[in-house]
Amino acid sequence: MKKLCCCFISLLLIVSFFYVKQMEIEPMLTSPTMDEPIAVPKISENSSLKVHYINVGQADAALVMCDNQSMLIDGGNAADSNLIAAYLKKENISTLDYVVCTHAHEDHVGGLSGALSVVSVNNVIAPKTEADTKAYKNFKRKALEQGVTIQHPAAGDSFMLGSSNIQIIGPITEHSNNLNNTSIVMKLTYGNTSFLFTGDAEREEEQEIINAGYDLSADVLKVGHHGSDTSTSYVWLREIMPEYAVISVGKGNSYGHPTETVLSRLRDANVKLYRTDLQGDTLFASDGGTVTVTTEKNEIIQTNETVKADTETAYIGNKNSKKFHRPDCHTLPAEKNRVPLVSYEDAVNNGYSPCGNCLRK
Ligand SMILES: [Zn+2]
Ligand SMILES: [Zn+2]
Repeated sequence: MKKLCCCFISLLLIVSFFYVKQMEIEPMLTSPTMDEPIAVPKISENSSLKVHYINVGQADAALVMCDNQSMLIDGGNAADSNLIAAYLKKENISTLDYVVCTHAHEDHVGGLSGALSVVSVNNVIAPKTEADTKAYKNFKRKALEQGVTIQHPAAGDSFMLGSSNIQIIGPITEHSNNLNNTSIVMKLTYGNTSFLFTGDAEREEEQEIINAGYDLSADVLKVGHHGSDTSTSYVWLREIMPEYAVISVGKGNSYGHPTETVLSRLRDANVKLYRTDLQGDTLFASDGGTVTVTTEKNEIIQTNETVKADTETAYIGNKNSKKFHRPDCHTLPAEKNRVPLVSYEDAVNNGYSPCGNCLRK
């Protein structure tokens, strides 16, 4: 009988040990079923939501603050680490409840090391697909130093940040051959307002998310991949129907971001557009019913028309030779053979190659 009792106690100990172990590694994320509607959180009187799109040049970083909790989504390049640390200090943040690396590219993960060095972090989220780069290794090392296990959420998982509900809606499948399409895409719902964060998701991932049947409608869209025309397809925009969009992009970047194609899609969708290259740090606030915007500079909304006027004749293509030129090149084609091109990227995407005289690298 004594032996039996001992056996029983040991069994109990083993079971409870595994149970505790399980509890320890249990992620904070929960998975509602697809049909289950997101519970619209009740907002108390002194609740507030602020979403800062931080100007990190040709990179991405957003700080979400809701009630007493905060989340950093991407941190710009490694060179932005100090800028991110200073921003957190300015906002009096000593603990980040969530740090999200949308995908392993340096312009998103790089500056997260800065955040992980200066504040304590409770949860770190990243896609399964990693990168064998210094920036990514640093991020992993800093998370490890904080004793935090990096969580890899699945589409459908959700968690609360203050009174905001955050649902992971992508990636549905990880395209590890294109890191952009491993981007964690999230929808934040606060009262009757919502924000969509897209990382660098391109149209393949956008389509998979649409096919999965999520409710994508949102008031504010963080435009995917810095306004590259590989993202922000018409179908994607039609599902979201945002009132506002933000493009995180560097002035005079060599990629030609944002592309005229995306600007014109946003124009067609009648979206109020903000750009970190033109407006600096851009702050959205919500009271659960209305969204307001404050920018660091150029308060007035950059209607895309002005941008269009600036970029309309950025380059001139020759429809016969398929070369493209600066408008001041001395070897411009005859008037009848000229094709206006809105950006370097637009020219290359349309099969043109740069003129050896005016566009020699
Ligand atoms: Zn990327
Ligand atoms: Zn990027």
